[in-house]
Amino acid sequence: MGRIRVLSDNIANKIAAGEVVERPASVVKELLENSLDAGSTNIRVEIETGGRRLIRIADDGCGMLRDDALLAFERHATSKLSDVKDLLSIATLGFRGEALPSIASVSRLLLETRSPDEQTGTRVEIAGGKILSCEEIARGGGTAITIRDLFFNVPARKKFLRSEQTEMAHIASLVTHYSLAHPDKTFELWNGGVNLLQATPVATLRERVFQVFGSQLLEDLIDLGEREKIMPAPEMDEEPKRFAVRGFVSRPQVQKNNRNSIFIFVNGRLIRDRLVLHALSAAYHNLMPPACFPFALIFLDCDCEEVDVNVHPSKTEVRFRHQSFVHDFIRDAVRDQLMMSRPAPSFSPHPQPGAALPYSDFSQMMQNDANDATAPEFILHPVNPPNARFNFGDAAVPHETEPGPSVPAAMGTVPMAPRAGEAAPLRLRVPDTHGGFPLDAPPLESSMANIGDLRPMGQLHNSFIIAAGRDGLWIIDQHVAHERILFEQVLAQQASGRAEAQHLLMPVILQLTPEQQIEYARIEDELRASGFDTEPFGNRTIAVKAVPAALGHGDIERVIFEILEIAEVELRGVSVSDLRRGIAASLACQAAIKINTPLDYKKMEWMLRTLAATEYPMACPHGRPVALRYGMREILRAFHRI
Ligand code: ADP
Ligand code: MG
Repeated sequence: MGRIRVLSDNIANKIAAGEVVERPASVVKELLENSLDAGSTNIRVEIETGGRRLIRIADDGCGMLRDDALLAFERHATSKLSDVKDLLSIATLGFRGEALPSIASVSRLLLETRSPDEQTGTRVEIAGGKILSCEEIARGGGTAITIRDLFFNVPARKKFLRSEQTEMAHIASLVTHYSLAHPDKTFELWNGGVNLLQATPVATLRERVFQVFGSQLLEDLIDLGEREKIMPAPEMDEEPKRFAVRGFVSRPQVQKNNRNSIFIFVNGRLIRDRLVLHALSAAYHNLMPPACFPFALIFLDCDCEEVDVNVHPSKTEVRFRHQSFVHDFIRDAVRDQLMMSRPAPSFSPHPQPGAALPYSDFSQMMQNDANDATAPEFILHPVNPPNARFNFGDAAVPHETEPGPSVPAAMGTVPMAPRAGEAAPLRLRVPDTHGGFPLDAPPLESSMANIGDLRPMGQLHNSFIIAAGRDGLWIIDQHVAHERILFEQVLAQQASGRAEAQHLLMPVILQLTPEQQIEYARIEDELRASGFDTEPFGNRTIAVKAVPAALGHGDIERVIFEILEIAEVELRGVSVSDLRRGIAASLACQAAIKINTPLDYKKMEWMLRTLAATEYPMACPHGRPVALRYGMREILRAFHRI
C-alpha cells in the first residue's frame, strides 16, 4: 500500500489556518472583509482580552441563506467566484473560500445570520472545526460572527500571541484603517466595553481622517487630491487603462522611525507592498533623512485585471501587471504634491533668543545672565565668510567649496588627515616654532575626558562652541552636547524614581488615535517614571498635568506623540529599558538648547564641564558626534610650521 494519504478536511483547514489566522487581528481582518463584501453599511467590532477570549463582528449586510450558512464552512466554499476566469478580475476582498473554515478549525465559533430573502435566520455553532449545532432563529437581517477562545486547540500558536495590548493595538490599527477606506460606512470598535472608535458616515476621506485621527494629525498632512493617469491600451484587443490615486501623506518634517504609519490600499484592499513603499520613499528622496518614514494613506484604484491579488493566502500582497507604471505614477503624484505644498525655506540670520531651552540650573543661569549685563562675552569671528550659506534646515555642516589645507573650515573629519594624493607643500624648515606644542594628541575618545578643561572662546553662528585646548581647537555642537547631558540626567532620574516634574497651570489636552490610546494605557507608568503626570480625559483624550522639568511647554505634544511612537516600536519586542532610553532620548532632544541660540562665556563653560562629567560625552543618544577637534599637528602643518 502506498504511503501517501489525502489529508482530512479538518487537518487541511488547520494547515490553512496557519497561514490565514496568524493572530487575532487576522481574524478581524477576514471577518471585516466578509462584512464589507456583503455590502454592509454598519460594522460593529467587539473585542475582549486582545481577541483571545472574544472577537465579535456584527454587520447589516446581505446575510446568508440557511443552506449557505453551513456551506460557508466547507473548504473552498465561496459565493464570490464561480469560474476560473473570475480569478483574473477579482472585485471582492475575499475569493479563496478559506477564511471561515480556517477560523472555525482553531476556535469556538458562533454564526448568526439571516438573508432578507428568508423568513427566519440561522444559528450555527462550531468548535475546533466540528459542527455542534445548526438551528433556526429569529433575527434581523445581517450577520454576526462570534469567535471565542482562539487557538484553544492549537497551544503552539497560542504561545506565539503577544501581550493583550499588543494584539489589541494590531486590531485597532486594522479597524481604523478599514474605516478610512470606507468613509460612507459606520465602524465601531469596542474593547472590553470601552469604545475605541466610533466613526459615523461622512462624505469625504478628509472628514474621516479628522474623525479617526483628530485635527492635530490632519494639520501635518497633505491631501493628494484625486489624480489619475491613463495608460494606453497595453494590448491590441484591450482598452486604455485608468489608474487613480488619492489619499494623504505627511509633510516631510513628520518623521516616523518605522513604516507602521504607511497604509496602502489597492482597490479597497489593505496591503503591504514593496513596490508602493519604494515609490513612496522615492517621493521623499532628499526631503527626509534616509532611515525615516512618513505617515501615508494611499488609495490606488485600477482595473481589477491590472492587479493580481491571488499571491498570498492572507491576501496582503499583490502583484501589479505594469509595475514600473504604477511605481512612477505613485512617486510622481506624491512628489508633485509635496513640492507644491513646500513652505518657503526659512533662514533666520537673527536668532530668536530664549527659544526653547529650559533645564533647571542651566535655565536658571540663563535667567541670571539676562540681568547681568557685565557677563563677559567672547566673540570669535566666524570661520566662514559672512555670506557663506549655512543652512541648518538641511543639517548641512558648513564647508568651503575651495578645498585647501590652509582653510580651517575644511575641517570635516576628526582628526584631520591630509587629503590622499595631495602633494606636500614645499617648505623651508623653520626651527623651533613648534616647541612645546603637543603634536601627537591622544585619540579623540580619550581626550574627550578633558573637555572640561577647554577654554571656551566663543560661538560659531550661535550654534557651535569654539574652544581652545592643549591638544588643539575644538568645535562642540551645543545642541548635541546638551542633548547628551539631559539624556543621562533623565536616565538617572528614571532609575532613582525621582523625576523632576513641573506642574502645568492648565493641563494640556491631547487627542489620541485608538492605537495611541492602547499604547498610552500600557506605558502610563513609564511616563510617570519620567516625570509626566497624565490621566485619561474623556473619549480618546488625555490630560497632561505635569511634565518633566526639562521640557518646554511648546514641546509637550510633540514629545508625548513621539514617545507613543517609540512604544509602538516597543510593541515589536523591545525591552522596558529600551523604552526608557527612548523616552529619555526624545525628552533630551526636545529640551536641549537649540542651535541659533547665543550663549555667553559662563554658559559655554557650564556646558563643557557638565558634558565632561557625562558617561559618554562622544555622541548624542541618536549617535551624532558631539565634538570635532582640529589637532595641533594639523594646525601647524596647515601653517607650514612642520
Ligand atoms: P471568501 O470570503 O473567500 O468567499 P470566506 O470563508 O471568508 O470565503 O466566506 C465564505 C462565504 O461565506 C462567503 O463567500 C460569503 O458568501 C459568506 N459570508 C461570509 N461572511 C459573510 C457575511 N458577513 N455576510 C454575508 N455572507 C458572508
Ligand atoms: Mg472572506
